[in-house]
Amino acid sequence: MKRVGELVQVDGAAGEGGGQVLRTSLSLAVALGVPVHVERVRAGRAKPGLLRQHLAAVRAASAICDGEVLGAELGSTSVELRPGRVTAGDHHFAVGSAGSAALVLQTVLAPLLLADGPSTLVIEGGTHNPMAPTFEFLQASFLPVLERVGAAVELELVRPGFFPAGGGALRVAIEPCRSPRALELLQAGAPGAGRVAIHLAHLPESVAEREWRAVQRVLHWASERCEIVHHENSVGPGNTVSIHLPAEHVTAVMTGFGARGRSSESVGRGAARSAQRHLASGFPVDAHLCDQLLLPLALLAGGEFLTHAPTPHTLTNAETIERFMPGAVELETLPSGACHVHVRGR
Ligand code: ATP
Repeated sequence: MKRVGELVQVDGAAGEGGGQVLRTSLSLAVALGVPVHVERVRAGRAKPGLLRQHLAAVRAASAICDGEVLGAELGSTSVELRPGRVTAGDHHFAVGSAGSAALVLQTVLAPLLLADGPSTLVIEGGTHNPMAPTFEFLQASFLPVLERVGAAVELELVRPGFFPAGGGALRVAIEPCRSPRALELLQAGAPGAGRVAIHLAHLPESVAEREWRAVQRVLHWASERCEIVHHENSVGPGNTVSIHLPAEHVTAVMTGFGARGRSSESVGRGAARSAQRHLASGFPVDAHLCDQLLLPLALLAGGEFLTHAPTPHTLTNAETIERFMPGAVELETLPSGACHVHVRGR
């Protein structure tokens, strides 16, 4: 990082060079009240610059703090945000494509937890996108961990939006987090009964049946553990396999995404194998939850947890946070292969 006056300069090509560098930088700039300039936005991706989803995140970050923004255009590879003070309240954001609504939420959530009053958001876009947190992941895995550290966030699926048609919406109620607590998640605790929810929109039930059989071949779970959820109000077709692994202190959610040209067997088997690997590891925090916890913990009261070997996503996110908050994230590999994550809060 180099600071020019108060401006934090971030190289968007750093680490993975994807959308995460931008979102995390915007979130930190707004929460900490420091101007930021992100150059070479998403330089590591085949189509660099702002896609609709990233543009929506830029606009959302600016809207919650009445900021001044330069480069908020599709395809832009340079974004500068001079944030004002974060104001709680009601906000409506629309991605305008099937881009992920959850990733827009990821950008504004931490700053709004630090605001001086409650906020309500409606975010239109995709709610079940590959390469992004799904509604079920947020609700069953991510938000309960935030609740443990004192952050009360309610999430509602107004309308599902499956990739590629999108057209979904999330409603989010955020209470200010006045007394954050440090997270300690070194053990998952006693395991509960895992379950599978297969989400279907405008697709035949046989898709879910084939996926469930593939899951069963890996996990050997009884049929009562499977639920098929039909989404009649989805704009387009879509399918996810959501495997919930609850334990005393945390729930992991592994997701398989149906896609044209991908067999139902491979969707079910892929999700089940991820679940099997996670259960076998005994680590409380899975790789996706890990990279998503770093930012809120750094802005709240910090904490520590055990997880899998860091993904490029986690390393990139940790590096980006370090640019604004030096020494905030420490990743320590233990002889067991676990990664012990320490986050110093504010
Ligand atoms: P780009 O198009 O530049 O790759 P992006 O903005 O679409 O970027 P990423 O930078 O890839 O997004 O970040 C994706 C985020 O979604 C990460 O926080 C990652 O943990 C999360 N994520 C991806 N897949 C899942 C999943 N199956 N379950 C939960 N979270 C997920």
